Amino acid sequence: MVSKRLVLTFPHKLLDKPIVYQLVKEYDLVFNILQARVMPNEQGLLVLEITGNKENYAKGVKYLTDLGVKIQPLSNDVRRNDARCTHCGVCISVCPTEALSINKKTMKVDFDLAKCIACELCVRACPVRAMEVKL
Ligand code: SF4
Ligand code: SF4
Repeated sequence: MVSKRLVLTFPHKLLDKPIVYQLVKEYDLVFNILQARVMPNEQGLLVLEITGNKENYAKGVKYLTDLGVKIQPLSNDVRRNDARCTHCGVCISVCPTEALSINKKTMKVDFDLAKCIACELCVRACPVRAMEVKL
C-alpha cells in the first residue's frame, strides 16, 4: 500500500473531464483533495493525497501523465531567503495559492508557508533566487 501527496497540473483541455474519478473506477485508488484551483493561465491545479496498492498507484500515475497531466510530489520544503528578497512582487503572479502576497501596510511581499504547496513556480520566477528548495 502506498499513500502519496501530489501536485497535479492539468492543461486547459482536460479541465472538464472526469479524470480523477477514473483513478477510483479503473485503478481502485482512494483520493483526498487537499486543494483545487484554476490558475490565471487557465491551467488546473489539484493537490491530492492518493492511496492504493503499489501496482495500481503506478498505473494511475501513468494514466495521468499519458493524458498530459504534470505530476510533482508535494513537499513543504520551499523557503524564502529574506536577505535576498527585494520585494519586487514577480512571484505573486505565479503563486497559485496566494502564499505570496503583497502586504498593503508595509508594501512588502509576505510569504505564508502554511499556504505553500511547494509547486516551485516561484523558485523559477524569482529573478534573484530568493525562493529556495530546501533539500
Ligand atoms: S520574486 Fe523573489 S525577490 Fe521578488 S518578491 Fe518574490 S521572492 Fe522576493
Ligand atoms: S512554491 Fe512558491 S509559487 Fe508554489 S505555492 Fe509555494 S510560494 Fe506559491
